Amino acid sequence: MAQTIWIHKLSDAKKREADGMDYICEHLFQAFTQTGKLSKTQGWNPLQNASAKDGTTYRALFCDLCGKNYNNGNVRMAKEPVLV
Ligand SMILES: [Zn+2]
Repeated sequence: MAQTIWIHKLSDAKKREADGMDYICEHLFQAFTQTGKLSKTQGWNPLQNASAKDGTTYRALFCDLCGKNYNNGNVRMAKEPVLV
């Protein structure tokens, strides 16, 4: 069974730093909250149509791990606050 990939919404300012992606994966989010900036050290895999189980698609930036684990429908939006 595919592993869920949690994504976090970016503010408009941060979207520009994320190549225009609207969301980032959990791992990039954790690194971001620690360093205060987006880093490519864990990989940099923009997906234009990362899809959730209900068919919703997101423009999301994944680390290499999530890029590998991604399957149609295993993306879920995390409920944490929006990054600023
Ligand atoms: Zn990840």
